[in-house]
Amino acid sequence: MPDFRSEALDLFEYTQSMRRDFHAHPELGFQEVRTAGIVARELTSLGLEVHSGVGGTGVVALLEGANPGPVILVRADMDALPIREETGAAYASQNPGVMHACGHDGHTAILLTVAKMLNAHRDELAGTVKFMFQPAEEGMGGAEKMIIDGVLDNPKVDLAMALHVWNEKTVGWIGIADGPAMAGAEIFKVKVQGKGGHGAVPHLAVDPILASAQIVSALQGIVARNVAPLQTAVVSVCTFHAGETFNVIPPAVAMTGTIRTFEPAVRALVLERFEKTIHSIAEGMGCQAAIELQILTPATINHFETARRVQAVARRLFPEAVVDTANTITMGSEDFAFILEKVPGCFFFIGSANPEKGLDAGHHHPRFDIDETALPRGAALMAAAITDLLNSRISDLLKQELS
Ligand SMILES: [Zn+2]
Ligand SMILES: [Zn+2]
Repeated sequence: MPDFRSEALDLFEYTQSMRRDFHAHPELGFQEVRTAGIVARELTSLGLEVHSGVGGTGVVALLEGANPGPVILVRADMDALPIREETGAAYASQNPGVMHACGHDGHTAILLTVAKMLNAHRDELAGTVKFMFQPAEEGMGGAEKMIIDGVLDNPKVDLAMALHVWNEKTVGWIGIADGPAMAGAEIFKVKVQGKGGHGAVPHLAVDPILASAQIVSALQGIVARNVAPLQTAVVSVCTFHAGETFNVIPPAVAMTGTIRTFEPAVRALVLERFEKTIHSIAEGMGCQAAIELQILTPATINHFETARRVQAVARRLFPEAVVDTANTITMGSEDFAFILEKVPGCFFFIGSANPEKGLDAGHHHPRFDIDETALPRGAALMAAAITDLLNSRISDLLKQELS
């Protein structure tokens, strides 16, 4: 196994300059034209076979190892968020109102570094690495678009990997769950229709605000009283709009929010209780409810054997590090889940905060920034994990488990 830890450190200036360039020029989902152009240029300069325009602005590149073997897909997301940056960094966003506030600039730079390192060691690889640079991870369905465009075929992908820098933990921490890693998410819209009227004669109206207030309270009972105490779910009402003035009962209330779960059975239970609770309260109070539910992402579930191998690689590579296998579950959601629904794989986290340097604002915060020493750590672990998995006959391992 090459010494990827020191090779990634040797490439630190490259990784950092790429990351800072992407950070200064952030692009929203499906608009990553500049970013994708740089990615394609860098991959082409390595002599890889590069395909642009996959699933919109996605880029795919193939690296053939010297020996035959399985195909491992490794993904980075390229999109930024509609947030006005307040970091004051020298490399802060030059695109007003758009910001790399989730760390996807780092992911893109890390994956380019991984491509460089693995390309230099292609003689030692048994199999193919498929690099996937995806657009629009932040709730716009970039992964699904690339799947529809065939990113998992030709050659067919056996295993998939991705990472996320993680500002909830400091540099040094590595999180690799061997089961559920991130929640599945649904978005809901609820309209409660009553009958408007004068605020002074409520008996002649049907008040949708009172019914909706009861609904908001009752929905909290689903997690508290229907989901088993050792299982997890979240139901959050996040917008509530009604009325125009102080003396008019409005005709309707509109609410939106999100539901997060891991287990399919818990998801089914929560959705069933959600619909029943809303309809019965609305009807009991003389209103009518209309519910729209939309799935944002399924749960991100790691493949047990693959995750175990990545954990072992992390412990060998960073003997001094905390490799956390238990506290890595988050109720956030991840587009990579669509890939893990189709092929086994592993999604892991690299601690990236450094409170002493003031680099500990949370993801999606206007002052979000990472300690860049996390970048070579992520690149080294990803390159080492891919090399280990390709050379360990993971395909036999997967077959064993299926039989
Ligand atoms: Zn994000
Ligand atoms: Zn993210």
